[in-house]
Amino acid sequence: QETADKIAAGEVIERPASVVKELVENSLDAGSRMIEVEIRGWGLDYIRVTDNGEGMTREEIPLAFQRHATSKIRNAQDLDSVLTLGFRGEALPSIAAVAKVEVLTRTEKSLQGHRFEIIGGKELSLEPCGCPKGTTVNVRDLFFNTPVRKKYLKKPATEMALITETVGRLALAHPHVAFRLTHNQRVILTTSGKNNLLETIASVYGPEIGRSLLPVDYQGKYLRVTGYVGRPELHRGNRSYQNFFVNRRYIRHSLLNQALEQAFHTLIPTNRHPLAVIHLQLNPELVDVNVHPAKLEVRFREEREVAVELTKGIRDALGRTPL
Ligand code: ADP
Ligand code: MG
Repeated sequence: QETADKIAAGEVIERPASVVKELVENSLDAGSRMIEVEIRGWGLDYIRVTDNGEGMTREEIPLAFQRHATSKIRNAQDLDSVLTLGFRGEALPSIAAVAKVEVLTRTEKSLQGHRFEIIGGKELSLEPCGCPKGTTVNVRDLFFNTPVRKKYLKKPATEMALITETVGRLALAHPHVAFRLTHNQRVILTTSGKNNLLETIASVYGPEIGRSLLPVDYQGKYLRVTGYVGRPELHRGNRSYQNFFVNRRYIRHSLLNQALEQAFHTLIPTNRHPLAVIHLQLNPELVDVNVHPAKLEVRFREEREVAVELTKGIRDALGRTPL
C-alpha cells in the first residue's frame, strides 16, 4: 500500500506547486473566503495553507487521507456534473505519502478542533486541540522519502515562481476569495476577495496592466464569456498570460488560445499574443474534466461551438470599446 501510494503520489504531486494547488483547491471546495499560503525555503521545506472553510470533524480527518475517499461525489452520475475542484480523493493521501503532514481543523459546530499528524503515509496522532474554525494543512519536508523526485525539480527560484503562478491563477479564478501568499514571511501576493475581477487582475499582474484591459461580457448559446482582454499594446511574446477558466477551473486548451487570437487577428501581428483572463461558464455536462489526474485538461463536447462563441464574445468586446 505504501509503495502504491508513493507511485500514485507521483501522478498528482510533481512539485511544491502541485501541493499548493491541491491544498488551495480543497480550501475553495470547503467554501473558504480567506486562504493564506505560507512558503518557506522554496516549498520543499514548508508549505502551510490556512483557510476559514467548513473544517473537518474528528471522524472525517483520517478518512480524508484514505485513497479515493472523497466527500464530493457519491456515484458515477455525479461525475458528469462535477462542480467542485476536487473529486478523485487522491490529493491528501498522495501528499501524505511523500511528506510530513500536520492538519489542524475545526468545524463551526464542534467546540473543539483536532490535530492530526501523518508522516510518509503513517498516521501518528489524532488529538483534540484549540483552533479557529477552518483548516490548516502544514506540509514539511516534501519528498523526504522519495529523493529521486527532488532531482527532477527546477531551480528554487523557478519552483517558487511556479507556486506564485499557481496561487495567482487560483485567485483569478476566485475573485470572491481573499488570498495571501507569503515567501519567507515576505508578502508576494494579496487579493481583496471583494469579487472584483479587474482589481484581482491588478493585484496579480500589477496596476499598469489593470488599467489597459477591455471588459468581455457575452452570452452565447452554449457559453457565457466574461473577463478581460489586453489592449494591443499589452500583447506579449508568448501565451503564458492567456488564462482560461471553465466553471472556475483553470484549464489549458489550445483551441481557446486560437479562438481568442482569431478575434484579434486583423489587429495584431501573429508573433504577439493578447493577454487575457477569461471565464467561461457552461453546463458542466458539456465539459469532461476527468481527463488527467492534475485536471488541467478538459474536453468539450461541442468544441466548434465553444471556439466560435468565444471568438464572438471577444470580437464583441473589441467592437464595443475604441482601441
Ligand atoms: P478530493 O478533493 O478529490 O475530495 P482530497 O484528497 O483533496 O480529495 O481531499 C479529501 C477530502 O478531505 C475532501 O473530500 C474533503 O472532504 C476533505 N478536505 C480536504 N481539505 C479540506 C479543507 N481544507 N477543508 C475541509 N475539508 C477538507
Ligand atoms: Mg482535493
